[in-house]
Amino acid sequence: MNSNKKISIKGLTLDELEEFFLSIDEKKFRAQQVFNWVNNHLVFNIDEMLNLSKELRVKLNESVELQDLVLSKIQNSVSTQTKKYLFESNDGKKIESVIIPDEKRNTLCISTQVGCPLDCKFCATGLMGYKRNLTTAEIVDQYLLAAKDYGKENITNIVYMGMGEPLLNFKNTLNSLKIFTHELNKVLSKNRITLSTAGIPQKIKELADSGLKVKLALSLHSCFEEIRTRIMPINKKYSLQQNLDACRYYADKTDTLITFEYTMFKDLNDRKEDINVLVKLTNKIPSKINVIPFNDIKHMDPEGISAELSPTPMDRIYDFVEELRKRNVTVMLRDTQGDDIVAACGQLAVKDN
Ligand code: SAH
Repeated sequence: MNSNKKISIKGLTLDELEEFFLSIDEKKFRAQQVFNWVNNHLVFNIDEMLNLSKELRVKLNESVELQDLVLSKIQNSVSTQTKKYLFESNDGKKIESVIIPDEKRNTLCISTQVGCPLDCKFCATGLMGYKRNLTTAEIVDQYLLAAKDYGKENITNIVYMGMGEPLLNFKNTLNSLKIFTHELNKVLSKNRITLSTAGIPQKIKELADSGLKVKLALSLHSCFEEIRTRIMPINKKYSLQQNLDACRYYADKTDTLITFEYTMFKDLNDRKEDINVLVKLTNKIPSKINVIPFNDIKHMDPEGISAELSPTPMDRIYDFVEELRKRNVTVMLRDTQGDDIVAACGQLAVKDN
């Protein structure tokens, strides 16, 4: 490790923080104190950590970093309570996170990559291409800075549904989950954190084996391999069948329900035969379905199949949901929230990165 480079301690799990303190000849218990300042008191200035000695504070100021992102802009939706944060990293990359309130909860949606390599045809982030993985500290800092603005106790849920594919940034995503779910980190519990993936079967299994027991969502969008491949090119590499096997494994191992996300595209996945296969699928895997209206991505000037996709009209979505419910499928219909500030699902994309 480059000895001049400061260590971003917002990205250290408690175990790593303990190792760090031992490596600078300090007592292990300092790790808990600092973890507590950062993650519970949202104190990001060493000099305000009053239970550390003056000498230790000088030492830490020389060796640790506590500013991984800078909050550069906040946008409030006029029509809903949605709030969008624009952050800038130390190398000038821009990242977005969104708070989506509803009657029962306030959900923070965070990003794991700058851009995304998956190229899903309906997603604005995909259209902007892939720049790099976020560090663990940058993933955690989205939450810490949003919590500082919004109130830690007011953020009840975290979803990994912002920019990027979390399972392609596996180690940093896993470490961020370890930090959020650590017993010393107050407020958030495991069942209030959901990771959404386009489907990397091996990593789904590894996440199941990690023992973290967060909730898993799979971006399903079609039960037919050929249609899914058309809108999600990753399906060529990892088939739906492989992903469904991995989901089954995840559900069994963690004793949780899988959420299947289902964005509705006119005449593509809103037909009678789609209902029939969805019913069969949810009978096989303990799960529920989250139906999402397609948020348009015209602000990205899409071409090809991206330009051909159009949203299923709302009345048809209601009928679709109703029919699934009649057949005993648990379905949630997600609102389109924050589209006036392009903060809705799949609309996150920052130009000039
Ligand atoms: N890469 C992860 C997480 C990011 S996307 C994944 O694929 O799951 C979060 C959810 O929004 C996914 O289900 C995604 O398919 C969906 N989504 C993407 N673009 C959308 C759009 N334009 N309208 C509605 N949902 C969209």
